[in-house]
Amino acid sequence: MLDQLPLLPADPILGLAAAARADDNPNKVDLTVGIYMDEQGLCPVFDAVQRAQRQLVEEETTKAYMPASGDAAFNTGIQKLVFGEDSAPLLAGRISSIQTPGGCGALRIGAEVIAAAVPGAKVWVSDPTWPVHIPLLGSVGLKFENYRYYEPDSHGVNFDAMVDDLKQAQAGDVVLLHGCCHNPCGADLSLEQWGVVADMAENQGFLPFIDIAYQGLGDGLDADAAGLRLLAARLPEMIVAASSSKNLGLYRERTGATLFLCRDGNSAAALQSQAQVAARRVYSMPPAHGAIIAGKVLTDPALRASWEAELQGMCQRINALRSQIRHQLEAATDRDFGFIEREKGMFSFLGLSKEQAQKLRNEHSVYMLDSSRINVAGVNARNIDALAAAVGQVVK
Ligand code: PMP
Repeated sequence: MLDQLPLLPADPILGLAAAARADDNPNKVDLTVGIYMDEQGLCPVFDAVQRAQRQLVEEETTKAYMPASGDAAFNTGIQKLVFGEDSAPLLAGRISSIQTPGGCGALRIGAEVIAAAVPGAKVWVSDPTWPVHIPLLGSVGLKFENYRYYEPDSHGVNFDAMVDDLKQAQAGDVVLLHGCCHNPCGADLSLEQWGVVADMAENQGFLPFIDIAYQGLGDGLDADAAGLRLLAARLPEMIVAASSSKNLGLYRERTGATLFLCRDGNSAAALQSQAQVAARRVYSMPPAHGAIIAGKVLTDPALRASWEAELQGMCQRINALRSQIRHQLEAATDRDFGFIEREKGMFSFLGLSKEQAQKLRNEHSVYMLDSSRINVAGVNARNIDALAAAVGQVVK
């Protein structure tokens, strides 16, 4: 029975990362996978996370299952982190959440709850979006429609086209939005544009589903959540999938949350129960380690201050790199790369063709996706010259 199943091709992003690892060129540049890397090319553990982890190891008395909703401190912490300490709907008891295995788990549980409310609901996704959105949401039977978003010519959001497409979104439909630091294009909505999306959601009745996986890595923790909070202040309902992979560096610990903004407290309790039952049929209880650590970091003042300072340093480094990459690429080519500085977060499309991206890989050991998406945080003082020189060669 099982031997009829074929070997599947490697995931395109993970497959490229494996090819980069296997390349024995000592000057190779790997800008494929979306993990934060420091100046040494390492994905660091936050100091606050290390301290919280030591506390956890000392205090832990059991490995019994977590509650179905996950760690209580983590839930409180992530609700405040996403919606804001003094969020009116939070203070009114209109928000509930459950801890999930990473942002992927959060997206999947959000999708399960949506499918329970409206089986086969239509989800509007940006063109392009993070490719994993499709299997995560599609596997529960949700259907997709694209809305136009990124415009390669201007290297920015074509907001008029987005609004035009979303005019067709109706009550019972879901609109998936990247909370900040759009993956893969790095082009985000302005606050004014978030306001237009809020108007449309109010008038047309669609449900916003916000994926926020990079809070704190664009302009800072509060600024990156400002669009989402604007919607939360005005709309009756919304779902948020939050990830602690990047901003707490907990990637492999699989830590995230699905958060529900509801009409009232009763509905918030109902949605949490729906999410718990959905989780029970997929994986039962969430993993403990990452969420207990995140709960400590988010709620202990000293750990929190240390974490925020370190995160701010990463954010500043990314933004400084954006400016350096822009200037070095402009010096190596006759193109305008000013857009790299206008974008937010870890990603940018360099605007190269698939052939050029492949040539960079094959002839220069510079690895980026075929779409020319780079992980900005993978650039450092040791590889930026090689990157610029190689790009200069292939666009000649
Ligand atoms: N959403 C987006 C847009 C992402 O880029 C990622 C991570 N690459 C996630 C969600 C989920 O990440 P994780 O499951 O690792 O927390």
